[in-house]
Amino acid sequence: MNRAESERLSALLDSQGYTGAPGANQADLVIINSCVVRASAENRVVNKLMLLKHIKQSQPHKQIALTGCFVPDDIKALKKRFPFVNYFFKAGERPDLPDLEAPGEPCLPREAGLRSLVPIIQGCNNFCSYCIVPYRRGREKSRQPGEVHEEVAELVARGAREVILLGQNVDSYGQDLESKADLAGLLESLNTIRGLQRIRFLTNHPKDMSLRLIETMASLDKVCEQVNLPVQSGDNSILRAMKRGYTVELFKSLVGRLRNTVPGVAITTDIIVGFPGEEEKQFQNTLALLAELRFDSVHIARYSPREQTLASSRYKDIITEIEKKRRAGLVEENQTEISREINKGLIGKTVEVLVEGRKKGKWYGRSRSDKPVFFKHEDNWFGKLVPVKIEQASPWSLTGCVNINSQQFKEDN
Ligand code: SF4
Repeated sequence: MNRAESERLSALLDSQGYTGAPGANQADLVIINSCVVRASAENRVVNKLMLLKHIKQSQPHKQIALTGCFVPDDIKALKKRFPFVNYFFKAGERPDLPDLEAPGEPCLPREAGLRSLVPIIQGCNNFCSYCIVPYRRGREKSRQPGEVHEEVAELVARGAREVILLGQNVDSYGQDLESKADLAGLLESLNTIRGLQRIRFLTNHPKDMSLRLIETMASLDKVCEQVNLPVQSGDNSILRAMKRGYTVELFKSLVGRLRNTVPGVAITTDIIVGFPGEEEKQFQNTLALLAELRFDSVHIARYSPREQTLASSRYKDIITEIEKKRRAGLVEENQTEISREINKGLIGKTVEVLVEGRKKGKWYGRSRSDKPVFFKHEDNWFGKLVPVKIEQASPWSLTGCVNINSQQFKEDN
């Protein structure tokens, strides 16, 4: 989301006559787009600000702006803490900077990448007990489906082939609109855009993902067979304390439904280890769930208390950093084996790759299941969909060769 917002900010500045500088030292205006989802991210923002404060001492004309989740509704305390920052504006908002025309809608990204990020809903209504996002990004606010459709069509006209629809909870998309649009309907509309080849979306919420969405995914040719479905813990009492709104049993049945309805779907998940009070037994339940459900990959976070959240005020963060690291390491170790086995199962199969570029003499891109794929070939495949027969697999990527005998390749050419 931050990357998408940074792209739009750059486009806005470009449209107003600003040009990019090679670094903070040379820039007249520096904007920091911050993330504070974990304490370590927040510390990095503070370190960057301190560095800018230092630079500003010798370049007092330099303007500094701070945006992103670091900026709350009430900026009084921030102004006091960082008096050298000239402007503060909230995540996703259009800034009120000098030389900018009257605030309005943010711009489209300056360049349409082959894979373009498109925010469709901002904010979150869920208030998971550990999460700072609803306090910083506010309540859910969806964009109109027509506006999203227009933007995607424009991006495709400018070279995009894949769009990734973004939201803290894409399953809530449209619920705040009068029309009660939903993600399934939006996907149906985007699927009609000529020239668009792939559609993805993230992140889903297990308590909100609907059967209609799953069936729509299965029925639309451009929607990729890939879902990020954060489970966070494999233990019901921890899930309750996290206020996630589902049980392990409900999560399992959702995964089963997805796998039965969308053949070959790749499912990734997120896990938090060391949530306050997580005992060894409860952590083992998480390991057992991961072993049973066998996700394609797992993003692991070590719990870190965030001010304002229920978890930080109600529970003590008593699990040591060493213990959190041990648990994260165990999840990673087990998952690496699972990912290796899943990817090995693809050896001999042909996957469709959208080619994004070249690295070290090899073309690379992603499969529909979002796995990085590398292959060697003398032709120029940039921006094309290529069938690649997988020959080697690691837990993190696949390597193969162009399979010109594949049925799909013959049909496309
Ligand atoms: S659904 Fe996601 S963004 Fe919303 S409160 Fe929970 S963890 Fe945070």
